[in-house]
Amino acid sequence: MKKLKNFRKLTISEILKEKGSYIKESLETIKKIDKDIKAFITINENADILPGKFSGVPIAVKDNIVTKGLRTTCASKILENYIPPYDATVVKKIKDAGFTIMGKTNLDEFAMGTGTEYSSFFVTRNPWDLTRVAGGSSGGSAAAVASGQVVAALGSDTGGSIRQPAAFCGVVGFKPTYGLVSRYGLVAFASSLDQIGPITKNVEDAAILMNVISGYDPNDSTTVEKNIDFTKFLDKDFSNVKIAFPKEVFGEGIDEGVAQKFQEFISFLEKKGAKVQNIDFPELKYAVATYYIIAPAEVSSNLSRFDGIRYGKRSEKDGLLETYLNTRSENLGPEVIRRIMIGTFTLSAAYYDAYFEKAQKVRRLITKKIEEFFDDFDFIVTPTSPITAFKIGEIKDPLIYYLMDIFTIPANLSGIPAISLPFGFSEGLPVGMQIMGKRFDDAKVLGFARFIEKDIPKVFPFEEDEK
Ligand code: GLN
Repeated sequence: MKKLKNFRKLTISEILKEKGSYIKESLETIKKIDKDIKAFITINENADILPGKFSGVPIAVKDNIVTKGLRTTCASKILENYIPPYDATVVKKIKDAGFTIMGKTNLDEFAMGTGTEYSSFFVTRNPWDLTRVAGGSSGGSAAAVASGQVVAALGSDTGGSIRQPAAFCGVVGFKPTYGLVSRYGLVAFASSLDQIGPITKNVEDAAILMNVISGYDPNDSTTVEKNIDFTKFLDKDFSNVKIAFPKEVFGEGIDEGVAQKFQEFISFLEKKGAKVQNIDFPELKYAVATYYIIAPAEVSSNLSRFDGIRYGKRSEKDGLLETYLNTRSENLGPEVIRRIMIGTFTLSAAYYDAYFEKAQKVRRLITKKIEEFFDDFDFIVTPTSPITAFKIGEIKDPLIYYLMDIFTIPANLSGIPAISLPFGFSEGLPVGMQIMGKRFDDAKVLGFARFIEKDIPKVFPFEEDEK
């Protein structure tokens, strides 16, 4: 039993030092606790120890990243029985490095959502409070790591889907600079925004995983040829950095507890020697609207392949058009259909200029503004989410969901790296702080996050049941 208890807290770097294998412990923990958490859609019953540097380290993969021979559903009925014939580039890389994939984690259908409540199968529960969401869309990955079922996980982030669930579950979530990690084998949601990244128990593990999964890939023409060592600045002293925070953070919609934690975070940074200054970022208020035009437009195009003929489960009817219509209305959920409709509308000839083209211009404007901030500052900080984990079923209006993404969306629109770092609790629920850096300054973002993390006590949601 001793080994199992320890296992739930273990990090990649600790296992590396120990050279032990924890595949059995991971499987046992999943079998024991995942009926309550519901992080996994599919458990890899054939999980085995693989050779390589990271041999014996159990990891989980979000279920919109394809795994050869292991069911990949995107939490959608349309792919309910899909067994991919190939591995995504990131999956191949982690397997080659010796990691064992323990299973595929829950998400909002096709990663569209913020709490896994839009999964076609079930809602993932927050390990800190089972009546609350784990966040989303990579809620399964974040909950699996936070509850100690696996050591680390991969997620995908289009508008915050790695960082927000990491914040809700009290773990680290990192969205790399666009182009550093191959999207080959990630089922496309919004290709100009999607990026795969790690969800881990600490910053060091995120950097270690980045070294494994990043790199140029001829199968993804948007990847760049850069050789970054993401662990490079983990021991660096960052006491003299210049930090900005948008004063709009304290605008309407932010939870009082989160605002208070953010104040504390600023004072904490100042104590650590940083120069912190507030900045005017009025464009921030357009970020959500811009994202919710661009992302659905890309959805309407990317998801057209799921028609029951080329891809996806077919719901046959008399006639081709009827079969298309029936397949899509029977097998896609309401949020996915909403996005396809919005995207098809904003791309239509009559509305293209008014919506899509305008949104692209605002995206450029927001990016330019962010780039200018980095002429004067090293990092920009915000809370990761304006709220903490909400109750399952509490939110009915999609617009409320959309507005929650306010702080995470700018990093996707501009392609910059951003991390969510646990920073204490508000009313018993984890609060995450976001650190954004310049494009390709990923190693510095990780280094700075590590510098901060050293002073934050580590606590686990399962500490009580272990006594
Ligand atoms: N919550 C956002 C959305 O619903 C972001 C999702 C994501 O990053 N995959 O689109």
